[in-house]
Amino acid sequence: MGTPSPHFSATQARPQLVDPFGREITYLRISVTDRCDFRCVYCMAENMTFLPKRDLLTLEELDRLCSAFVARGVRKLRLTGGEPLVRRNLMDLVRSLSRHLDAGTLEEITLTTNGSQLSRFADELRAAGVRRVNISLDTLDPDRFKSITRWGDLGKVMDGLRAAEEAGLNVKINMVALRDVNAEEIEPMMRFCHERGHDLTLIETMPLGDIEGDRTDQFLALSEVRRRLEETYTLEPLPDRTGGPARYVRVRETGGRLGFITPLTHNFCESCNRVRLTCTGTLYMCLGQEDAADLRAPLRASEADDLLHEEIDRAIARKPKGHDFIIDRRGQAPALTRHMSVTGG
Ligand code: SAM
Ligand code: SF4
Repeated sequence: MGTPSPHFSATQARPQLVDPFGREITYLRISVTDRCDFRCVYCMAENMTFLPKRDLLTLEELDRLCSAFVARGVRKLRLTGGEPLVRRNLMDLVRSLSRHLDAGTLEEITLTTNGSQLSRFADELRAAGVRRVNISLDTLDPDRFKSITRWGDLGKVMDGLRAAEEAGLNVKINMVALRDVNAEEIEPMMRFCHERGHDLTLIETMPLGDIEGDRTDQFLALSEVRRRLEETYTLEPLPDRTGGPARYVRVRETGGRLGFITPLTHNFCESCNRVRLTCTGTLYMCLGQEDAADLRAPLRASEADDLLHEEIDRAIARKPKGHDFIIDRRGQAPALTRHMSVTGG
């Protein structure tokens, strides 16, 4: 392999993934299923057509893919979906991946979940080495919860939240900010989270997937939310960077952390450290671009991982500098046709 590059670590069998803009790829998000037990209005249509089960990667294949990325320097894995906890035997995958935590080659395995199944799985997740979970919660009002998620039950999610707390998992709440739907609940939600010792991250809606509705109605700019909060609270910017689109502040009055995810701005692309894998083995190099690489074919073509690594190298070499989101103010067409449940956010 010649002289090791500056990005080559002696403990790695293969070189660190670095894209053409010098960004090290250290974070992989994996959508383990496109299915979900909710139908959130901004995410899915009510009558979604899901992928045939035969198209999905098996848990063993997902493990092999994740492990290939860990061998290339990925330090964080986030399991998402669809709803990751509705994938059958998901815990087998988590337990298996935790060998990389034990080996010190992986820093963390985390999960983004709607919380509906957490009361069943919180203890097992903790036992398998998971230390943090993100729970999506857009409202604390049961009726509004039903109208946003269509099929969800707030009581079950609250049970899940408590189970996560009792299991000792570090919880972050994700809330999508929706004009005329939950804008008035942002401050109470912040208080609720901070009183319980949890971070709250607000998310701007993104134009992903056809969802039967007009997104321009729902869009609420977080700059506006921030301005409103600043009338009452002191927001102190924090240097914390995740390599993603979140920016954090400390709220002086509550002592808690508040994050803003504004994916439509470009201010995070230059430090982007992540790629996204779908449950069929398609790798998206950017949340806001259509270009993708099929990793399932090289995975299945050979038991050795050489073809897979060659395809990963070709894909990372095409990682774009930034994204192309536009909310089309004239029509309802999304800028990208794939749903968030495919790439997992
Ligand atoms: N089902 C899990 C959940 O809801 O947490 C994981 C998958 S979900 C696609 C991941 C995150 O994406 C959730 O926090 C959800 O609120 C967010 N999300 C889904 N569609 C979105 C959209 N169009 N714009 C912004 N965020 C979205
Ligand atoms: Fe399901 Fe999460 Fe999408 Fe809601 S946001 S429909 S919980 S995948």
